Amino acid sequence: MKINIPETGQQRVVIVGGGFAGLTLARKLSNSDFQVILLDKNNYHQFQPLFYQVAMSGLEPSSIAFPLRKMFQKKKNVFIRVTSVDRVDTDAKQLETPLGIVNYDYLVLAIGAKTNFFGNQDLAERCIPMKSVSEALYLRNKILADYETALSTPDYEARQKLIDIVIVGGGPTGVEVAGALAEMKKYVMPKDYPELNPDEIDIHLIQGGSKLLLGMSEQSSTKAQKFLEDLGVKIRLDTRVTDFDGEYAYMNDGEKIPTHKVIWAAGITGNTVEGLPEGSIVRGGRIKVDRSCQVEGLENVYAIGDIAYMEEEAYPHGHPQVAQVAMQQAKLLAQNLKAITKSKSQQSFSYNDLGSMATIGRHLAVVDLPSFKFQGSFAWFIWLFVHLFQLLGVKNKLFVFINWVWNYFTYDQSLRLIIKPKVPKRQELRMKEE
Ligand SMILES: Cc1cc2nc3c(=O)[nH]c(=O)nc-3n(C[C@H](O)[C@H](O)[C@H](O)COP(=O)(O)OP(=O)(O)OC[C@H]3O[C@@H](n4cnc5c(N)ncnc54)[C@H](O)[C@@H]3O)c2cc1C
Repeated sequence: MKINIPETGQQRVVIVGGGFAGLTLARKLSNSDFQVILLDKNNYHQFQPLFYQVAMSGLEPSSIAFPLRKMFQKKKNVFIRVTSVDRVDTDAKQLETPLGIVNYDYLVLAIGAKTNFFGNQDLAERCIPMKSVSEALYLRNKILADYETALSTPDYEARQKLIDIVIVGGGPTGVEVAGALAEMKKYVMPKDYPELNPDEIDIHLIQGGSKLLLGMSEQSSTKAQKFLEDLGVKIRLDTRVTDFDGEYAYMNDGEKIPTHKVIWAAGITGNTVEGLPEGSIVRGGRIKVDRSCQVEGLENVYAIGDIAYMEEEAYPHGHPQVAQVAMQQAKLLAQNLKAITKSKSQQSFSYNDLGSMATIGRHLAVVDLPSFKFQGSFAWFIWLFVHLFQLLGVKNKLFVFINWVWNYFTYDQSLRLIIKPKVPKRQELRMKEE
């Protein structure tokens, strides 16, 4: 059965995914002659770079998520359906979703990536990833609930497992989480939990590579490590976490760390949709595309953002999976799709690297611009400004700004609520039966 979407007689572009890539494309096509169908399993866009602040009680989830419908309220050619896409049939030019079939003239896959546990089931079941607002919220609840339990746990080792945290992965996410936790330990714990000894709290950052922030300059990576160590974070380089049984995190050097919480920020792999030719899925679970973002071997099917694997001279192993690549590819594709209808020539994608940055804590950030690199207070203010500017919606910008100013002056994030979703009794019973 076909999904109920009006047939307007316009050429139909179906975009799967309302992340940085899909949303930018939908916005660029929202004043075009195309009918634009935006499909996402969530009814909101998530601003992933600030997930860690939700997890650390610094921001509310609503401040970093934006409802898709609000974005297109006045756009008559954009239709949104909240559903997951399970399969694509490229011969019939249609998608299969739990809501029904969606046909397309042009298909754009902007489905992003998911956490990669490298096939380890124990890690997948027990570690806490940070790839969605709900996972960030889960982490916040878990941290706070464990601190509460620790207050009534006299046994030293049992208490350590509740308050110590292991973070796996020394990329920007791992570094930012470690920094935020260290600041929480320094500024918040003594006020909220004076009965706990902050010196007992250990924050471990485990990095498989030989330095932190592998994609950034030597200067930034060394400085980030120093900033974190000054904040008391215990860093292990060239070390991998191989297992976690809920009590101990095990490492490849034979050591184990007692903890109930392992945050997994050690890699991503592409989200999947069935029906694509086998050869089109390449390294990192990404979909291979040509320089115009078209999936190799498929007419009128495109992939953009984290899911797309495109080689160009400067990036022989594909582009970094960052928001800038996603948005720049979306802009180029919008231009190319409009060009098709006017029989104009197609442009090739070339990534314009605007730089990268990571924050460690108050007045501590590292910034690599193409022409120069800097670290410390100025870098931190630049980080704040760039992230505030990139957030969608005036209300979100304002709320985040107010939160940051409040935190800056009070040294105190004010959102430390343990909110557990309540499942209606009957549904709870049904879930147990299933
Ligand atoms: C914690 C964290 C911090 C980050 N920090 C930074 C940073 O500081 N700077 C930076 O540049 N980048 C950062 N990134 C990376 C950046 O967020 C990604 O590069 C960017 O989100 C990619 O955009 P995208 O549109 O390709 O995918 P996404 O933003 O992941 O969007 C994919 C969308 O597709 C939807 N979807 C997936 N599968 C389906 C399906 N089958 N059916 C329907 N819908 C589906 C999802 O719900 C989602 O809305 C960070 C990422 C994380 C996880």
